[in-house]
Amino acid sequence: MSSKKQINKLGKLKKGILQEILSVQTMFPGSFNKVYGKCGKTNCWCYRKDKAGHPSKRITWSEKGVGKTKTIPEKDAEWIKSVTENYRNFRKKCREIQRLEEDIRKLLDDYRKDVVNKTRKLRQYL
Ligand SMILES: [Zn+2]
Repeated sequence: MSSKKQINKLGKLKKGILQEILSVQTMFPGSFNKVYGKCGKTNCWCYRKDKAGHPSKRITWSEKGVGKTKTIPEKDAEWIKSVTENYRNFRKKCREIQRLEEDIRKLLDDYRKDVVNKTRKLRQYL
């Protein structure tokens, strides 16, 4: 395939990825997990030593280098799962775009050299 065709092909791929990720409306960094904790009430079932405690879901992320952890309401478990997935996917696609851009740049170098050589052949003094 000529470098021109390849450049156009990669350009289309990049455009497709951009359209895909720019349609994402919600995303949030971090990961979420399930933890168990005691509520502290002496009359609660979790007060017993052999019980792990109440399950709760937490999200952990980093903001300006500071770690943050928040408890997620049960009803938001699926939502958090999807917005953190969106975030990871967005980052992944950005890396794909970066790789495509590097490939395009290399191909443009080849293309430039090729055209310069062809042009050179058009005039004896070049
Ligand atoms: Zn309890």
